[in-house]
Amino acid sequence: MKEIILIKLGEIVLKGLNRRNFEDSLMRNLKRRLAKIGEFHVQIAQSTISVSPVHDDIDMDEVEDCVSKVFGIAAFARACVTEKDLDKIKEAAGEYLADVFDSPKTFKVEAKRSDKKFPYKSPEICDEVGGYLLEKFPNISVDVHEPDVTVTVEIRDFGAYIRAGLIRGAGGIPVGTGGKACVLISGGIDSPVAAYMMAKRGLELTAVHFASPPYTSIRAEEKVAELLERVAKYSGRIKMFTVPFTEIQEQIREKCKEDYFTIIMRRFMMEISEEIAKKNGCHALITGESLGQVASQTLLAIGCTDNACNMPVFRPLIGMDKEEIISVSRKIDTFEVSIQPYEDCCTVFTPKHPKTKPVLAEVIREQEKLDCKGLVERAVEGVRLTNIE
Ligand code: ATP
Ligand code: MG
Repeated sequence: MKEIILIKLGEIVLKGLNRRNFEDSLMRNLKRRLAKIGEFHVQIAQSTISVSPVHDDIDMDEVEDCVSKVFGIAAFARACVTEKDLDKIKEAAGEYLADVFDSPKTFKVEAKRSDKKFPYKSPEICDEVGGYLLEKFPNISVDVHEPDVTVTVEIRDFGAYIRAGLIRGAGGIPVGTGGKACVLISGGIDSPVAAYMMAKRGLELTAVHFASPPYTSIRAEEKVAELLERVAKYSGRIKMFTVPFTEIQEQIREKCKEDYFTIIMRRFMMEISEEIAKKNGCHALITGESLGQVASQTLLAIGCTDNACNMPVFRPLIGMDKEEIISVSRKIDTFEVSIQPYEDCCTVFTPKHPKTKPVLAEVIREQEKLDCKGLVERAVEGVRLTNIE
C-alpha cells in the first residue's frame, strides 16, 4: 500500500503578502532535506504539501523524522493513498488502520472533499467509511465528541488520502525567509539552543567558533561541529568558521587587568564575529546569553559587550532559566553532546573575581593597551571554514 506524508502549513500562510515567498522557501528547504534520504515527488496544493516516495524501499520513519524538523510546518501525518473510488477507499482504510484499531478504541471519521467533482458528499463518505470500519473491527465504537482516533479521508486532485490524526510539526517560519545571521557557538548548552530558536524564526545560520589551541583541544572543536550537525537537522546547512583566538587571549592575560579579562575577550569575539558576519551576508549576531547567568551576563557586562559591535545582537535566551534552556536542548538532542567535558576558550583564562558591574570607559581603556586592530586582523585571516550539513 502506498504511503505518503501530508503536510499542513501554518495558519500564517493563509494571510499576508508573503505567502508565495513562504511556500517557495518551505518547498526548497523540504526538498533539499529529503534529497539526503531518497527520491520524492513533493507537491503543493491548497496549503497542503504531499511528500510521495518515488521508490518502495524508503524508510518512512526516517522521512517522518526529517519532516518533523522542518520549520514552517504546523502539522503533518502519514497517510495512505488510493484511487478516488468509495469502495477502494473503504478497503484501503480497513487495511491501513488495522494496526491502529488492534485494541479497543473510539473513533470518528471526517471527510475533506477539495475535489468537488467527487460524486459523494462529505457526510456520505463519513457514513460509508465509518460503517465499514465498525463492521471490520468489532472492538471499536463511534464517539464524535472525544474520539481516541480521528480518521480523515481527504479527496484531493491527485487521489484519496486516508490518515489517522495529525502530529504537531516544528512550527516557526521557513529558514531563509528572514535573512541570515551569525551565531557565536561554544561547546556549551546555551548557544546551540539559541541557534535553533533563531532558525525557527526564519533565519539562515552561519556560525563562528573561537578556539585557543593548545589550551583547547581538537576534540572541543569536533564537539562544536557535532552540535551544529544536530542544529542543522532543523536549520539546514551551516557554514562554520573557526577563529584562532590564542594570541588574543594571551595578550589580554599579559597586558590587561585580570578582572576585565572576560569582558575584553567577549568584546573581541563580538568584533571579529561581526566582520565574519558581514563578509558572509549576515545582518545580525546570535549569542546564548541569559541575563544574570554568569558574571559576563549581568546587565552592565552585556552593555559593554554589545558596545563592541554595530549589528543587532539577538539573545533569544535572555529571559530563560537554565532549566528551561536545558529542556529545549534535550528536545533538539544537543544536551548529551553539550555536557561532554571539553574546555572552551572562555573557561581557560577565567579571572578569580570578574567584574559584574564593569564601566565601559574603563574597559575600553584597558582594551586599548593592546594592538586591537592587528589582533583582529590576524584572527580574521586565520579563520578556517567547515561546511556542516
Ligand atoms: P554556552 O552554554 O553557549 O557556552 P555559557 O552560559 O557558557 O554559554 P559564556 O561562556 O559566557 O556562557 O558565553 C556566552 C555566549 O558567548 C555563548 O552562548 C556563545 O554565544 C558565546 N561564546 C562563548 N564561548 C564561545 C566560543 N568559544 N566561540 C564562540 N562563541 C562563544
Ligand atoms: Mg560557554
